[in-house]
Amino acid sequence: MRFDYYNPTQLTFGAGSISRLGEVTAKYGKRALLVTGGGSVKRSGTFDRAVKSLEAAGLSVFECAGVEPNPKITSVKRGATIARENDCDVVVALGGGSTMDASKVIAASVLYDGDPWDMIFHGQENVHVPTEALPLITIPTLAATGSEANNGAVISNEDTQEKSFVKADCLYPKAALLDPELTLSVPKNQTSYGVCDLITHVTEGYLNSTDTTPIQDRFAEGVILTAMEYGPKAIADGSDLEAREQVQWAATLALNGWVQAGGGSTGYPVHMMEHTVSAYHDITHAAGLAIINPAWMRFAAKTNTAKFVQFSERIFGLKSNGPDDLDCALAGIDRFETFLKSIGCPTRFSELGIDDKLIETYAKETLRIINDGNGNLPGVPLMSEQDIIDVLKAAL
Ligand code: NAP
Ligand code: FE
Repeated sequence: MRFDYYNPTQLTFGAGSISRLGEVTAKYGKRALLVTGGGSVKRSGTFDRAVKSLEAAGLSVFECAGVEPNPKITSVKRGATIARENDCDVVVALGGGSTMDASKVIAASVLYDGDPWDMIFHGQENVHVPTEALPLITIPTLAATGSEANNGAVISNEDTQEKSFVKADCLYPKAALLDPELTLSVPKNQTSYGVCDLITHVTEGYLNSTDTTPIQDRFAEGVILTAMEYGPKAIADGSDLEAREQVQWAATLALNGWVQAGGGSTGYPVHMMEHTVSAYHDITHAAGLAIINPAWMRFAAKTNTAKFVQFSERIFGLKSNGPDDLDCALAGIDRFETFLKSIGCPTRFSELGIDDKLIETYAKETLRIINDGNGNLPGVPLMSEQDIIDVLKAAL
């Protein structure tokens, strides 16, 4: 096992952590751009608490409201303009993954004179990988993406029908306040999607590796099992703080690099396919994942059977006849799909009204945005254009 691990984001976890926002932010600046989504933080009172804490610590607050789900590059540009006009020196993201992702790219855009879309990977090369950004503090209000403590952001461009990512070390938030109380107001469907997203972040690493790295596999399985135990509790009773705590911490751990380190992961094929479909249909990220992941798993299990057998045995307690037991691997995937349905996720495109008309376009677009240099989508196994078409067709 060999790896480098780097994650400089300071984490503060626990109910009520938001009250420390001012104190934490004041270490990094005096004029804060407070970025929010479509209004949930206003309805819940979280926005007022955040402003109060920032102002009590002597900060001036400037707002960029209205970041939409699947955040658009236009929102990024708007946020950067507000930050520049008001000489903001620190960015605070208060919301879900969309708000946090937009905030990251806003923070970098303020220090970049070119077009912010340059920073989003859309083709085989980034025009501009950011190396500097304003300091960022994140406060997730929805447990899902892990964006609060990683260096990635996913942004959409309506003009070009692209949805893609940027990853850069300068985008790591300086600090994240993980306050599970803020997630008590998340509706059932978004709670389910969060659980699906975080589990998919783990399976994308765990199942796109032929390595079995004992300690890392156990971390991955622990996050999946915790999400499968406490996710349904949080969905059944949104006010269950213990369940919200477990799901929040699982979401952060699922994509802060810890579970992935040394695991031999080779790609994020399910996310990459989902981003393309989402670019065309603006679907909820994890709804797309819930549909594509089981179909991808059935494809990948034929090659990486042993890892899927391990998944079936350790997550669902199934018994195998050995590492080549494809039936056991497939039975585990069926169980996983049943779990996704049980928490209310769609598992077929038809449930979202998406048909096969653009499937070849999705496959081409996915590979145009990312491929291994030989026209294949990275992962285990590598996916050709036809493989992508077959997986997406199986998900119809
Ligand atoms: P989201 O798009 O940020 O939010 C979804 C919905 O949940 C919004 O309508 C939002 O309302 C609402 N919401 C958020 N917090 C709430 C609360 N406490 N109470 C009630 N409603 C609340 O959802 P997300 O799943 O966190 O983020 C999805 C985006 O992140 C996608 O674009 C996806 O591609 C990206 N992503 C990023 C990463 C990463 O590592 N950077 C990883 C995976 C996915 P308001 O808008 O009104 O607040
Ligand atoms: Fe995701």
